[in-house]
Amino acid sequence: MAGRNFLFVPGPTNVPDRILRAMDRAMEDHRSSAFPALATELLHDLKHVFKTTTGQAFIFPATGTGGWEAALVNTLSPGDRVLAPRYGQFSHLWIDLAQRHGLRVDIIDVEWGEGAPVARIEEILTADTGHEVKGVLIVHNETATGVTSDVAAVRRALDAARHPALLYVDGVSSIGAIDFRMEEWQVDLAITGSQKGLMLPPGLGLVCASPKALAARERAKCPRVFFDFGDMIKANATGYFPYTPSIPMLYGLRESLAMLFEEGLDNVFVRHRRLADGVRAAVRAWGLKLCARAPHWHSDTVSAILVPDGFNAADVIDVAFRRYNLALGAGLARMAGKLFRIGHLGDLNELMLLGAIAGAEMAMRDVGIKIALGAGVAAAAEHYRSTAAPLPSRAAVAPSPDMPQPPASGKGHSPRATVRA
Ligand code: PLP
Repeated sequence: MAGRNFLFVPGPTNVPDRILRAMDRAMEDHRSSAFPALATELLHDLKHVFKTTTGQAFIFPATGTGGWEAALVNTLSPGDRVLAPRYGQFSHLWIDLAQRHGLRVDIIDVEWGEGAPVARIEEILTADTGHEVKGVLIVHNETATGVTSDVAAVRRALDAARHPALLYVDGVSSIGAIDFRMEEWQVDLAITGSQKGLMLPPGLGLVCASPKALAARERAKCPRVFFDFGDMIKANATGYFPYTPSIPMLYGLRESLAMLFEEGLDNVFVRHRRLADGVRAAVRAWGLKLCARAPHWHSDTVSAILVPDGFNAADVIDVAFRRYNLALGAGLARMAGKLFRIGHLGDLNELMLLGAIAGAEMAMRDVGIKIALGAGVAAAAEHYRSTAAPLPSRAAVAPSPDMPQPPASGKGHSPRATVRA
C-alpha cells in the first residue's frame, strides 16, 4: 500500500527518523575502553526521565514485562504478600507474573474504566498492623482501558496508614509522556519500556530503584539471574553490562533522551495533554464514550473508545488496517470487541493525529456505525486551532535562504551568497 502506515497503537509508537539514524550504525566492542562513556551517560540521564536524583536506573535488554519481573524478584521473597488493584489487562498480567513467582497477591478488583482505589488501599494498609504487606503494585497508566491513576494519592495513602510497604509503579505507558515523579511520590520501583514515551523500538526494560528498594535486595530471596540488580550494579559501576547489551538500542536511547530534553519534559507532558484533549473532543463529537469513566481517569497517552452496542470494535480495527493502512489498538481480554484504542503518545503532532481520527471515523462509517463523517476531525481540529501557541513574530524567525534579501552592499555580491556564507 502506498504511503505511510499510520501507527496509532499505544506502543510500539512511531520512531522518529533521528532515532532510527542514531541506531543505524556498525556494531562495536561493548568491552572497549570507549564504551563506558555511553553507558554512564545513559544511566545518569535516565534518572531525569524518572525524576529522581537518589534512585538507580537499570537498563535490561527486555521489555516492560522484564521490568516488572526485575522489580519484583530483586526486592521480594516467595510467599511475601503484595497488594495490587486490578483494573485492566496490564494490571492483571503483572499480578499473574507476581503469582508465578510465588508471591501472595491481595487483589482489589476494580471496574475496568476506573483506576487505583486510594481509599480502599489506605483502609487495607491501615488494617495491616503487622506490616505483612511488603509491596503495593500500581499501574500508573492502564493502557488497556485508557485510565491514569493518581500515584501521588497512593503514596499519601501509604503515609496515612504509616505503612512501610514498597511502592511499585508500572509507568510503561506514562513515563516520558505523562507527568511522573519518582522522588516526590517516593516510588520505590518504577518501570518502563522503550517502545512508548521513549519513542524507541521495543527491546529495553527500564527500571529505577530507590535506595529503600536497593536495601530490600539483602533479604529478597526470589531466584534471579538475568535480572539480578547486583550483577548490573557491579558492571554498571565501571560503565559496562554483565552481558551483551543491545548496542543499537543504547544509541537510540541516547538520541531519545536528547530529544526529550530538547523539548523539555514538562513541554512533552503539555503536548500529550493537548493532543489527547483533541481526541477526546472527537469522541464527544462522534457521540461515543471512553472506557475511562470519569475525566479524572482520562489518559493522555491512550483513548479506549467504546463502540455502540451491536457493533464489533474488531471490525473497525480490521477495516482501518486493511483499507486505510491505519493501525488502531484492540480491546484486550474482557474488552475485546467492545472498544478500539487510539494511542497518542511519543513522536506525534496535531496533523498526524487528525489523520488517525479521520481514518477511525471512516472505518466506523464503513462498518455501519452512525457518525457524521468529519465530525471528529472538525472537533479535534478546532481544539488544536484554538489552543495553538501564539506564533513568534516573523522578525524573530531566522530568514530562509530562499526569502528575498535586502540589497547587499558592494557590486556583484549576490544576496544568496551573503545568506549562505
Ligand atoms: N504495562 C503496561 C501498562 C503496558 O502497556 C505494557 C505493554 O503494552 C506492559 C506493561 C508490558 O510491556 P511489554 O509488552 O513491553 O512487555
